[in-house]
Amino acid sequence: MTKLRSWGTTTTAAAVLTLTAGVLLAGPAAAESAPSPTVPSPATAFPAMAFPFALGQQVYSAGIHSDDGSDGVKNAIDFSPADRTVRAPLAGTVHLQHCSGGDWVTIDHAGGWRTGYYHMEAIQVTDGEQVEAGAPLGSTGNALPCGGSSTGAHVHFTLWTLPAAPATAAAPGDREAAPGDREAAPRDREANDREAAIGDWDNVSYARLTSTVAAAYGQPVDGKEIGGWQFTAGAEQYDGTATHLADRQLVQLPGRFRDTP
Ligand SMILES: [Zn+2]
Repeated sequence: MTKLRSWGTTTTAAAVLTLTAGVLLAGPAAAESAPSPTVPSPATAFPAMAFPFALGQQVYSAGIHSDDGSDGVKNAIDFSPADRTVRAPLAGTVHLQHCSGGDWVTIDHAGGWRTGYYHMEAIQVTDGEQVEAGAPLGSTGNALPCGGSSTGAHVHFTLWTLPAAPATAAAPGDREAAPGDREAAPRDREANDREAAIGDWDNVSYARLTSTVAAAYGQPVDGKEIGGWQFTAGAEQYDGTATHLADRQLVQLPGRFRDTP
């Protein structure tokens, strides 16, 4: 089965070195017992939420991974529901995040939690729209609006917490430097980071979303309960398990399961 990686970087010498160093320096025990210094404490407990798709269908999950699939907090999990319809798992406010290659979707929920939906096609929601749990957001797909990669239709579902500040429009002039943030002057980068903190991720590149933003706001999928299943990250990227809390059914990830009502 093709692995459904998203945000995936192509293998580079630097990535290989980073992974190799991680394996050499940190065994599984260390990885499990030592809290990551890069994960901030969320302001509020993780809210009860449904899956980002309808109940009662077969789902493939490529597993739990970091936003770039190689390094950093494992704040993402890929889902491919059979009906391909992505739905809001919890009520909230939609942000359409615009990039040169198109849009992607985030939803801000009560308590400062944000969920993300990358790779979607045929987006059905609008910027600022208030959605209820179950509202259709779009279709699983291979869209790459800000960069990254995808090798099979899915949604890259991501968890973050944000500071308790409302999203606001960018100050005039800030937007100009955003698309080429690697080339932006330091003052512009600071302006961009302030925007990122308040939730406007328009034109935030894939590279910065998976590094700066993920390090500042990413929250691990490990231990979270979603749709009545508890997710546990494994030692490696894309590893892990899903446990159905009602009957203790255990699914190894990557893997298929049927989300029963
Ligand atoms: Zn993914």
